[in-house]
Amino acid sequence: LPNCPKCGNKEVAPTRSFTVIVEPSKGERGMTERRVGMYTCSKCGTKFPTVISRQKYLIVAEEQLNSIQSDLTGVKKENEELTQKVGRMEREQRDLQATVERNAQESDVRRLETKVEQLQSYVSHLRKEKDELEQRASRLR
Ligand SMILES: [Zn+2]
Repeated sequence: LPNCPKCGNKEVAPTRSFTVIVEPSKGERGMTERRVGMYTCSKCGTKFPTVISRQKYLIVAEEQLNSIQSDLTGVKKENEELTQKVGRMEREQRDLQATVERNAQESDVRRLETKVEQLQSYVSHLRKEKDELEQRASRLR
């Protein structure tokens, strides 16, 4: 609620409201519809108007409006298609991510297998050395 412009009182009551159409001032386009409320101050009795709301209207040729609306429909459709495309790409990206992770696991497994093979050949090498040492030891006995 507005304050009284004379005494600053907040307790003002609307008495009536009306609508005015304001023609464009120089350099402006369109009309402005103003909803104006009349208020009365309960303290000092001052009556004053206040603009409650404004609605601006542009005058557009029907053809132009139709063309704008059909453009808008086209843009909305394109936007929907793009949204779907983005959704598909996100799914593909997730799939790729999963594949990459799977491949990384597989290459880890291969690396470990190679290591196991190396360890196995090292173990058999040690066994051979142990056998040789045992043979040498038995000869010394
Ligand atoms: Zn007042």
